[in-house]
Amino acid sequence: MNLLDFYRQYPDEASCEEALRRFREHHGLSCSQCGGLRLSWNLWHKSWTCMDCKREMQLRSGTVMQGSHLPVRDWFAAMFLLTATKRAISAKEIQRQIGRKRYQPVWEMVHKLRDVMGERDGGYPPLMGTWRLTRASFPRKRPKNRKIAR
Ligand SMILES: [Zn+2]
Repeated sequence: MNLLDFYRQYPDEASCEEALRRFREHHGLSCSQCGGLRLSWNLWHKSWTCMDCKREMQLRSGTVMQGSHLPVRDWFAAMFLLTATKRAISAKEIQRQIGRKRYQPVWEMVHKLRDVMGERDGGYPPLMGTWRLTRASFPRKRPKNRKIAR
């Protein structure tokens, strides 16, 4: 995927959210509360409701994007930049490219992405389709607590 493909495939936030939703549903989404498989999508809340226990699940919950206030498209763009460039790209450069004023959220996003991408591939994937873009949306394992040497 090149830059033009990226713009075509993900022209706006809605197309990115839709891609994320489809990806999660395609990969066997289940209720985080009861494990139920009957989930109903609510476009206005951007969430699923479990038909069994009525729990609501947000689009981003359980993904690497959970808790972030950055648009899904920023995440997609960062994934694109991380995978499309042969050389390592800094968080500062990603911040510049996506046009965010604050560095901290971008830095956090890039670190989370590097974490999940490294975990899954042992390096950055060379190609990126929708699948590549959104695979980092899988829930990730929590790292074991490291003991602090004193
Ligand atoms: Zn449920």
